[in-house]
Amino acid sequence: MKFRQSVFKDESKLDINYVPSRLPHREKEHRLLMEFFSFLTQFPEKMAQRVIVTGDIGTGKTALCQRFGADMTIEAGRRGVTLRYVHVNCREYRGKLSLIIQHAVSILSPNFPKRGFSSEEILRTLLQSLDEEKAFMILALDEFDSLIEAEGSDAVYALTRLQEMRQSASQRISLVLIMRDLKPTEQLDASARSTLQRNVICLEKYSKEQLVDILNDRVSMAFGSAAVPEDVVCLAADLARDESGNARFAIELLWRAGKYADAEDLDVVAPECLRKAISSIIPMTQRNELQSLGYHEKLFLLAAAEFFKSSQKAYGTLAEVEKAYAITCEEFEEQPVSHTQLWKYVQLLTALGILKTEVSGEGTRGRSTLIYLPAVSASELEKELRGLLAEGKRGGARWR
Ligand code: ADP
Ligand code: MG
Repeated sequence: MKFRQSVFKDESKLDINYVPSRLPHREKEHRLLMEFFSFLTQFPEKMAQRVIVTGDIGTGKTALCQRFGADMTIEAGRRGVTLRYVHVNCREYRGKLSLIIQHAVSILSPNFPKRGFSSEEILRTLLQSLDEEKAFMILALDEFDSLIEAEGSDAVYALTRLQEMRQSASQRISLVLIMRDLKPTEQLDASARSTLQRNVICLEKYSKEQLVDILNDRVSMAFGSAAVPEDVVCLAADLARDESGNARFAIELLWRAGKYADAEDLDVVAPECLRKAISSIIPMTQRNELQSLGYHEKLFLLAAAEFFKSSQKAYGTLAEVEKAYAITCEEFEEQPVSHTQLWKYVQLLTALGILKTEVSGEGTRGRSTLIYLPAVSASELEKELRGLLAEGKRGGARWR
């Protein structure tokens, strides 16, 4: 038997959570962050800093902040300052400040009781632990908009005031707030807003050339030598550029293309592997739309995806998909919504371009509306929706 060799050398370097040691084309922003926090190496107890990092999906916000956190911690350590960088995704904690701070505390004091404390109490405990340890913390709140949405200005006050109230004592906690744009901060009242928006670092979308550099860097870490031809990297960058300069999309695309190459026993990642990969990925723009759908809209779309996945039919009637939806509701232990409501869902999903409809020709039963899926794989759609629905359950997101 022939030994099959993979095009990959180290797949983990393409993992979404991997933070590379350098981020091409984010050097300037990295330096700026280090500048903003340079006081930590000189007079750490004298001040606390607040910085907002904005940028579209896949512009490297999370990666940049994590890289900065690790580098800043080392830099502080060199000067004898104990610094803790804690990165929390607010959405994972439903935007609830108490849960977010709880997580931060649990990193310092793993035995701290999990329940029964208000965010102020937990914050106070956090400050105390830092005092005892003579340590400082940079708390990075990723997807900060979910915290604003859930708790509004009060959360911002809680985060900033407690420290200000202890004026005699040392400043301990600095904040890095990460979000796509500043729009959510408009919901805050004026004074909460003004405590935040002093330093804003905005990450621009990547150009095609920048994406090529980023991809080349990853390719050399993740793939065997000569496994990815130059024009394939170029094509991946072009495709990702169309997805609004999204580095995450570009990296995921290459990883999938590699999988297709392996599945076909190829020595190199051919352009065709890339084309297969792209047609299997749900475009990021559509993913956002999926995310923003209501709970039953998601259930209905899941039912449609499963209907098309399991049946050989290219087109389905609303009645057929409605039947599938009833089964999906059973699985999720939900009461189905009315037929009229479903009809509205079809119109909404069609307007969003997620579903397509066509009126059937005049047959014996008259005209009826047929539903079909546009250029997207039913099983990818199913996978994506199941993921989102699970998140919704866990996160208790606003349903309907
Ligand atoms: P965001 O948080 O803005 O949505 P991420 O930080 O998650 O974006 O970046 C998406 C992916 O792209 C991650 O895998 C990240 O490591 C990678 N990435 C983004 N920018 C760069 C860069 N400049 N150099 C290398 N990899 C990058
Ligand atoms: Mg992110």
